[in-house]
Amino acid sequence: MNSKGITILGSSGSIGVSTLDVIARHPERFHVTALTANSNVERLFAQCLRFKPRYAVMPESAYANQLAKLLQAAGSKTEVLSGTEALEQVASDPATDYVMAAIVGAAGLLPTLAAARAGKRVMLANKEALVMSGQLFMDTVRDHGAELLPIDSEHNAVFQCLPMSTRQGVEKLLLTASGGPFRLWAAEDLPTVTPQQAVAHPNWSMGQKISVDSATLMNKGLEVIEACWLFGLPAERVEVVVHPQSTIHSMVAYNDGSILAQMGNPDMRTPIAYALGWPQRLQSGVAPLDLFTTARLDFERPDYVRFPCLQLAYDAHRSGGYTTIALNAANEEAVKAFLEGQIRFTEIPQVVEYAMAKALAGTPTLIEDIIVQDRESRVHSLFWIKNKKLSL
Ligand code: NAD
Ligand code: MG
Repeated sequence: MNSKGITILGSSGSIGVSTLDVIARHPERFHVTALTANSNVERLFAQCLRFKPRYAVMPESAYANQLAKLLQAAGSKTEVLSGTEALEQVASDPATDYVMAAIVGAAGLLPTLAAARAGKRVMLANKEALVMSGQLFMDTVRDHGAELLPIDSEHNAVFQCLPMSTRQGVEKLLLTASGGPFRLWAAEDLPTVTPQQAVAHPNWSMGQKISVDSATLMNKGLEVIEACWLFGLPAERVEVVVHPQSTIHSMVAYNDGSILAQMGNPDMRTPIAYALGWPQRLQSGVAPLDLFTTARLDFERPDYVRFPCLQLAYDAHRSGGYTTIALNAANEEAVKAFLEGQIRFTEIPQVVEYAMAKALAGTPTLIEDIIVQDRESRVHSLFWIKNKKLSL
């Protein structure tokens, strides 16, 4: 078997660490060609010593220099690169077969697109990249013969429940949502939510931004848009089902009355192993689900009133590409401001709605137009946040 070379964009994060955990279980199948991190020098250094990549990338030169010094002193042969273009370089490097796109937010868009353009197997965790670039991303994958495999547990579950060769008979996708830590909170208590409460997810251990997104249900909204693009369906055929146990990771409903579900313990190593091994299955290190401990499966309708971000995502997708870029950019800025104590939890959807209303009509076809809308929506969001601070 020839060993596959893997680049992990965002190896220091939650998905990056889980990916290395699965790779380490299969040293004969995979080797690491490049690892990247934004600021965690210590963790990237330890990962480089263990996995011996050809390249390590840190966009900021101050961090890259620190890492290079440490690696040199340790006698490592890993070459350290800096600058955001270096992320694109390692994503499209000829020695790389598979790229794990696990940078959080818009920062992952260009390197993920570069991997698609280079015809790699793109293992997509960075949902924001697809939400921002939609059609352009899917066209790039098709035109350059890339393989796009979803890592998001819901989309990976849908992918597992769809037949290989045909989408025939698919009625609906049912995306499950845990409902987040505030599922049972009264509307009047939600303005008091603190960042510490919002990042403590009941079932999954994840990075800060996606944890807040799970608490507002914006994560599910981004996932609805992601599912529409990945599986080529209109939003009316992607339904959200709140399922607090997070045991069923998503379902596909067929026209003969069948519903296929993918189940398992909530551990991202399952979808990661599925994408790494596809079409084969690999050991992931995840314990089998104990059905007797699980005991029950509950389902509820989402509450669009207490959690307006989910509705905003459906609305944005219906309005077009520029509006979904605004949704994503405003959400990133609002989550950051919330984590820094500048706005309330319940103001996150207000920032998003404000920026969405200011977005251009239609859908961009050029990457430059996507980047301009992203930048402008951040300016609009910061304006809202600053004025709110002034009125405090
Ligand atoms: P995280 O915060 O733990 O890690 C983010 C990674 O991105 C880190 O390696 C960080 O160094 C890198 N990064 C951040 N900003 C960067 C920048 N400006 N330039 C370059 N690199 C940068 O996040 P995570 O939980 O691992 O999530 C990563 C992505 O995967 C997100 O898009 C998230 O929505 C998606 N995802 C995560 C999970 C999960 O269980 N954690 C599940 C599904 C999807
Ligand atoms: Mg998910």
